[in-house]
Amino acid sequence: MDNPFWKSKSLHQMTEREWESLCSRCGICCLHRFYNFKTGKTLFTSIACRFLDPEGCFCTVYESRFQREPDCEKITPYNVMKLKWLPKICGYRCVAEGRDLQWWHPLVSGDFNTVHRAGISIRNNFISEQDIRPADVMKYLLKRPSMILFYDFS
Ligand code: SF4
Ligand code: SF4
Repeated sequence: MDNPFWKSKSLHQMTEREWESLCSRCGICCLHRFYNFKTGKTLFTSIACRFLDPEGCFCTVYESRFQREPDCEKITPYNVMKLKWLPKICGYRCVAEGRDLQWWHPLVSGDFNTVHRAGISIRNNFISEQDIRPADVMKYLLKRPSMILFYDFS
Protein backbone atom coordinates (compact mmCIF):
# COMPACT_ATOMS: atom_id res chain seq x y z
CA MET A 1 0.00 0.00 0.00
CA ASP A 2 1.65 3.24 -1.13
CA ASN A 3 -0.58 5.65 0.68
CA PRO A 4 -2.51 3.88 3.41
CA PHE A 5 -5.41 5.61 5.12
CA TRP A 6 -3.50 6.33 8.32
CA LYS A 7 -1.06 8.44 6.31
CA SER A 8 -3.47 10.00 3.86
CA LYS A 9 -6.43 10.84 6.09
CA SER A 10 -6.71 13.01 9.16
CA LEU A 11 -8.01 11.36 12.32
CA HIS A 12 -11.40 12.94 11.78
CA GLN A 13 -11.61 11.81 8.16
CA MET A 14 -11.25 8.15 9.07
CA THR A 15 -14.26 5.88 9.15
CA GLU A 16 -15.09 4.25 12.47
CA ARG A 17 -13.72 0.98 11.13
CA GLU A 18 -10.45 2.55 10.00
CA TRP A 19 -10.03 4.30 13.33
CA GLU A 20 -10.68 1.12 15.31
CA SER A 21 -8.19 -0.80 13.20
CA LEU A 22 -5.39 1.43 14.49
CA CYS A 23 -5.47 -0.60 17.71
CA SER A 24 -2.76 -3.26 17.47
CA ARG A 25 -4.26 -5.33 20.30
CA CYS A 26 -1.19 -4.96 22.45
CA GLY A 27 -3.42 -5.00 25.53
CA ILE A 28 -1.44 -2.39 27.47
CA CYS A 29 -4.37 -0.05 28.00
CA CYS A 30 -6.28 -2.89 29.67
CA LEU A 31 -3.78 -3.02 32.53
CA HIS A 32 -4.94 -1.46 35.78
CA ARG A 33 -3.18 1.76 36.61
CA PHE A 34 -3.04 4.39 39.31
CA TYR A 35 -2.76 8.12 38.87
CA ASN A 36 -0.51 9.87 41.34
CA PHE A 37 -2.02 13.32 41.83
CA LYS A 38 1.14 14.60 43.51
CA THR A 39 3.54 13.70 40.71
CA GLY A 40 1.08 13.72 37.84
CA LYS A 41 2.39 10.33 36.77
CA THR A 42 0.51 7.18 35.93
CA LEU A 43 1.72 3.96 37.46
CA PHE A 44 0.85 0.74 35.73
CA THR A 45 0.35 -2.65 37.27
CA SER A 46 0.62 -6.02 35.55
CA ILE A 47 -2.99 -6.74 36.47
CA ALA A 48 -5.30 -6.85 33.47
CA CYS A 49 -9.01 -6.41 33.17
CA ARG A 50 -10.89 -9.69 33.53
CA PHE A 51 -12.25 -9.32 30.01
CA LEU A 52 -8.86 -9.36 28.29
CA ASP A 53 -8.24 -12.49 26.27
CA PRO A 54 -4.99 -14.01 27.62
CA GLU A 55 -3.72 -15.23 24.25
CA GLY A 56 -4.90 -12.62 21.78
CA CYS A 57 -4.85 -9.64 24.20
CA PHE A 58 -8.14 -8.42 22.78
CA CYS A 59 -11.32 -7.47 24.58
CA THR A 60 -13.75 -10.36 24.84
CA VAL A 61 -16.73 -8.04 25.43
CA TYR A 62 -15.81 -5.30 23.01
CA GLU A 63 -19.32 -4.31 21.94
CA SER A 64 -20.61 -4.03 25.51
CA ARG A 65 -17.34 -3.08 27.22
CA PHE A 66 -18.56 0.20 28.69
CA GLN A 67 -21.50 -1.50 30.35
CA ARG A 68 -19.42 -4.44 31.55
CA GLU A 69 -16.46 -2.38 32.73
CA PRO A 70 -17.33 1.20 33.76
CA ASP A 71 -13.64 2.18 34.00
CA CYS A 72 -13.04 1.25 30.38
CA GLU A 73 -12.30 4.37 28.39
CA LYS A 74 -13.18 4.94 24.76
CA ILE A 75 -10.30 6.26 22.69
CA THR A 76 -11.44 8.70 20.03
CA PRO A 77 -9.88 11.22 17.65
CA TYR A 78 -11.04 13.88 20.13
CA ASN A 79 -9.43 12.55 23.29
CA VAL A 80 -6.42 10.56 22.04
CA MET A 81 -3.94 13.38 22.66
CA LYS A 82 -5.27 13.94 26.16
CA LEU A 83 -4.84 10.35 27.29
CA LYS A 84 -1.27 10.71 28.48
CA TRP A 85 -1.19 7.17 29.83
CA LEU A 86 -1.41 5.64 26.37
CA PRO A 87 1.96 4.05 25.56
CA LYS A 88 3.95 5.57 22.74
CA ILE A 89 3.61 2.36 20.77
CA CYS A 90 -0.20 2.55 20.84
CA GLY A 91 -1.43 2.68 17.25
CA TYR A 92 -3.85 5.50 18.01
CA ARG A 93 -1.16 7.59 19.64
CA CYS A 94 1.40 6.88 16.89
CA VAL A 95 -0.89 8.10 14.16
CA ALA A 96 -2.21 11.04 16.21
CA GLU A 97 1.39 12.17 16.72
CA GLY A 98 2.18 11.82 13.02
CA ARG A 99 4.37 8.75 13.40
CA ASP A 100 4.08 5.74 11.10
CA LEU A 101 2.96 2.32 12.26
CA GLN A 102 5.74 -0.20 12.67
CA TRP A 103 6.22 -3.51 10.87
CA TRP A 104 4.58 -5.53 13.62
CA HIS A 105 1.33 -3.58 13.53
CA PRO A 106 -1.44 -5.77 12.04
CA LEU A 107 -2.32 -3.10 9.51
CA VAL A 108 1.23 -3.27 8.15
CA SER A 109 1.93 -6.99 8.58
CA GLY A 110 -1.57 -8.19 7.76
CA ASP A 111 -1.31 -10.53 10.74
CA PHE A 112 -2.67 -10.06 14.27
CA ASN A 113 0.09 -12.30 15.63
CA THR A 114 3.03 -10.08 14.78
CA VAL A 115 2.36 -7.80 17.76
CA HIS A 116 2.88 -10.84 19.98
CA ARG A 117 5.82 -12.26 18.06
CA ALA A 118 7.61 -8.94 18.29
CA GLY A 119 7.13 -8.95 22.06
CA ILE A 120 5.10 -5.76 22.01
CA SER A 121 1.92 -7.12 23.53
CA ILE A 122 1.43 -8.05 27.17
CA ARG A 123 0.83 -11.71 26.34
CA ASN A 124 2.41 -13.85 29.08
CA ASN A 125 3.23 -10.74 31.08
CA PHE A 126 0.08 -10.09 33.06
CA ILE A 127 -2.25 -11.61 35.57
CA SER A 128 -6.01 -11.30 35.38
CA GLU A 129 -7.77 -9.32 38.07
CA GLN A 130 -9.82 -12.46 38.68
CA ASP A 131 -6.73 -14.27 39.91
CA ILE A 132 -5.49 -11.91 42.60
CA ARG A 133 -6.62 -10.92 46.08
CA PRO A 134 -7.49 -7.21 46.43
CA ALA A 135 -4.96 -6.94 49.25
CA ASP A 136 -2.17 -7.95 46.87
CA VAL A 137 -2.73 -5.30 44.23
CA MET A 138 0.30 -3.20 45.17
CA LYS A 139 2.57 -6.20 44.69
CA TYR A 140 1.88 -5.93 40.99
CA LEU A 141 2.86 -2.33 40.62
CA LEU A 142 5.31 -1.92 37.76
CA LYS A 143 7.89 0.31 39.38
CA ARG A 144 10.81 0.34 37.05
CA PRO A 145 10.84 -2.91 35.16
CA SER A 146 12.15 -3.28 31.65
CA MET A 147 8.54 -3.46 30.55
CA ILE A 148 7.96 0.17 31.49
CA LEU A 149 11.19 1.29 29.86
CA PHE A 150 10.28 -0.55 26.72
CA TYR A 151 6.73 0.69 26.55
CA ASP A 152 7.81 4.22 27.45
CA PHE A 153 4.74 5.65 29.11
CA SER A 154 6.05 9.20 28.95
S1 SF4 B 1 -2.61 0.59 24.00
FE1 SF4 B 1 -3.49 1.26 22.05
S2 SF4 B 1 -2.87 -0.31 20.58
FE2 SF4 B 1 -2.61 -1.20 22.62
S3 SF4 B 1 -4.54 -2.27 23.03
FE3 SF4 B 1 -4.72 -0.20 23.89
S4 SF4 B 1 -5.70 1.01 22.28
FE4 SF4 B 1 -4.91 -0.86 21.34
S1 SF4 C 1 -13.51 -4.00 29.01
FE1 SF4 C 1 -12.28 -4.75 27.33
S2 SF4 C 1 -11.31 -2.92 26.40
FE2 SF4 C 1 -12.11 -2.35 28.43
S3 SF4 C 1 -10.35 -2.60 29.83
FE3 SF4 C 1 -11.54 -4.53 29.85
S4 SF4 C 1 -10.56 -5.83 28.28
FE4 SF4 C 1 -9.87 -3.73 27.95
